[in-house]
Amino acid sequence: MTLGTPSVMPGHPAAISDLLRGTDPTFSFEFFPPKTERGERVLWQAIRELESLQPSFVSITYGAGGSNRTSTVSTTDAIAAETTLLPMAHVTAVNHSVAELRNLVGHFASGGVRNILALRGDPPGDPQGEWVAHPDGLRYAAELVELVKSAGDFCVGVAAFPEKHPRSPDWDTCTRHFIDKCRAGADFAITQFFFDWRDWVRLRDAVEAAGVNVPIIPGVMPVTNVKQIEKMAQLQGSEFPSDLADRLHAVADDPEAVRAVGVEVATELARKLLDEGAPGIHFVTLNKSSATREIWQNLGPVPVARS
Ligand code: FAD
Repeated sequence: MTLGTPSVMPGHPAAISDLLRGTDPTFSFEFFPPKTERGERVLWQAIRELESLQPSFVSITYGAGGSNRTSTVSTTDAIAAETTLLPMAHVTAVNHSVAELRNLVGHFASGGVRNILALRGDPPGDPQGEWVAHPDGLRYAAELVELVKSAGDFCVGVAAFPEKHPRSPDWDTCTRHFIDKCRAGADFAITQFFFDWRDWVRLRDAVEAAGVNVPIIPGVMPVTNVKQIEKMAQLQGSEFPSDLADRLHAVADDPEAVRAVGVEVATELARKLLDEGAPGIHFVTLNKSSATREIWQNLGPVPVARS
């Protein structure tokens, strides 16, 4: 197995959908926008350390509001202008009018950012609170897919939820809405992180059975901090497996041992998903490079750049 790398022509960035049509799985990293100068330094250290692995693409999450939105945009711009990486911008519909969303998407196009992950987003403050659409905005991510697609030659991704979205009443309803979102024009999807490979297979099979051929890239998050991942898993409605929790709690006082378990578990999950035909792996890095680098090395061999 080799892992895919982009061929970016100056002035015409690669579309992630084209990379996904290649023979090798894609391999991508997700970062979040820094809030402080120290956070900025940590992020850029991770970006530079991971750049040498030649990932297929990298992405920056879109902040819930305020300064971290500005930081999302400036970081995505800087990746496009100052690195050899292919950036994907996350965009959410939260607190944006349609006109603001068009401006934002236009801004990304002018900086050479062609790949966009179109999301509805969660309410700022309390992610589990009531979601209220902007009076001149959008209600669902499917509408944002249509907006971005109509704005230019963009390659558009959407979010997928192998265990179901926490707001959905049940898995079938969630998957039906996901399929509708794909039909609205999505080129690919990236999942929320999860721990059981069978959840991804179930979603992939249901989508294929509906006649929809949108590649679904699994999102994988290496556990490096037990409390943090348990809280995130709870917020997004993920099943945190009890055997993994037991293994982690047994070494909870030893951060290196926790990290080692996290790397081992994420490596096993990524390998199984690739064996099951996953089109790539999207790593949630939390702006740290070392765990992701180790997993990438475990998955080996060293990727071969496509010409
Ligand atoms: P939607 O697809 O609109 O779905 C939202 C809910 O509405 C779901 O329950 C869905 O089933 C339901 N629904 C959809 N269509 C309909 C319909 N027609 N009728 C009734 N119900 C419907 N959040 C951020 O704030 N910033 C980020 O950068 C970010 N990045 C993410 C990256 C990934 C890979 C993933 C998986 C999630 C990310 N999120 C991010 C979180 C995401 O914004 C939330 O999970 C949000 O609650 C759902 O977004 P969505 O795009 O899936 O919304």
